[in-house]
Amino acid sequence: MQNAAEMSNNLQLEKNAKDIWKECLGLIKENVPFITYNTWFLPIRPFEIENSTLKIYVPNNFFIEWIEEHYNTLINKTVSQVLGEEGRLIYVIYEEKIAADEPAPVIPINGSIAPTPQIKPLDYETFLNPRYTFDNFIKGEGNQLARAAAMAVGDSPGQTSFNPLFIYGGVGLGKTHLIHAIGNKILETDPRKRVIYISSDAFTVEFVEAIQSNTLNDFSGFYKSMDALIIDDIQFLVGKEKTQDLFFQIFNTLHQSGKQVILSSDKPPKDLKGLNERLISRFSWGLSADIQPPDFETRVAILKNKSEVYGISLSREIVEYIAQNISSNIRELEGCLIKLLASSSLNSKEIDFEFVKKTVREVSTNKQVTVSVELITKIVCEFFGVEENKLREKNRRKEVVFARQMAMYLSKQMTKLSLKTIGLHFGGRDHSTVIHSQSSIEQLALKDPKIRETLDTLKNKIEMSAS
Ligand code: ADP
Ligand code: MG
Repeated sequence: MQNAAEMSNNLQLEKNAKDIWKECLGLIKENVPFITYNTWFLPIRPFEIENSTLKIYVPNNFFIEWIEEHYNTLINKTVSQVLGEEGRLIYVIYEEKIAADEPAPVIPINGSIAPTPQIKPLDYETFLNPRYTFDNFIKGEGNQLARAAAMAVGDSPGQTSFNPLFIYGGVGLGKTHLIHAIGNKILETDPRKRVIYISSDAFTVEFVEAIQSNTLNDFSGFYKSMDALIIDDIQFLVGKEKTQDLFFQIFNTLHQSGKQVILSSDKPPKDLKGLNERLISRFSWGLSADIQPPDFETRVAILKNKSEVYGISLSREIVEYIAQNISSNIRELEGCLIKLLASSSLNSKEIDFEFVKKTVREVSTNKQVTVSVELITKIVCEFFGVEENKLREKNRRKEVVFARQMAMYLSKQMTKLSLKTIGLHFGGRDHSTVIHSQSSIEQLALKDPKIRETLDTLKNKIEMSAS
């Protein structure tokens, strides 16, 4: 037990450390770009000050190395400015500090006993969806291996031979759900871990922004500081050489230091044509696990579970009818339940068999097809007899320019992607190029019925291949 004088002394020390660090932060903020400040300095917490030595908490070793390598001069200058010539800085890693101090010491604040301020290393957005957990992921034959591997990685990130863990399979089969569940599990077990989820599209956009704002070091450093990096839909890195190069570096750093990498894709690594061979070979270092469409029993189990969650009660016949008639993917099963729920509560209708049949018919005929830029590019190129990679290059031949504009126009029409992302799919072109293509094709279509016909044909082909 500490006596009152010691406690008050500690409090004094801590307050001083806080003020001193605040002053340092003020100076640092003036000298580095905002993203650098946010990524590397904001997560730091003051710990204590003793004889001009300021101790600060940092999330992990990587932070220390990074700061020392890149901001040593700045940090030394700042510390001596605030603490005088003899000022020194010592780094303490959150985890070590917490482990050594458990249970957390208490200090009095305003006369009452309060715990030491909880150190919260999560100073960034993880983008994990808390709804996606292992608890609500139904086990079935099609997802057995992927689920088991995901659970093992969730329990011991970086400690299994499943590194990277590569999950692949068709649309709506649970890849995104499963990889979020891993991230959620890691944080549930240890909230101090640094975990991040990002789609490969968003990763590419951030990468381009980092180049434009000259903050590439911070961008890659941020991802290298993770304990677990989760990247969804890695197939969208195909054709994006520069992003792949950077991802390769990040991957190596993380893998070498025993950090976990988790990836998802619509196809196995070896079929990711257009992805750098170095990356493909790295992917096979760990485990690739596929998810197959759910069999009948799994579909029934999923329907039972989800209808319970949504609070709809469905008879066995109804559940089996739906499971028999909607078989391709789980997103559609969910869509059907939501439709039943919405219509039944809107019309305060009993859920009877006729109503279910009608809804199932609607869901399976109104199939939401997901169209990708890759598919659009493929079909447009086949149609015009142009090589696909020409669309991503700086080729100015008339027929290539026209095919590129068509593909961009259709991408804007048929996908939900932003102009910026579409531009990136076509060799990293600017969003204004996409706008220009859009208006050119619109103008042509207005004037020329043949162009309108071509657009209809292309759209039909694309929709047919997507469903
Ligand atoms: P993918 O990323 O493979 O396209 P998602 O992970 O987005 O698929 O899954 C689509 C929907 O189906 C999500 O709402 C998800 O929660 C649900 N889902 C998929 N697989 C399962 C499962 N095994 N158990 C419960 N829900 C599932
Ligand atoms: Mg997904």
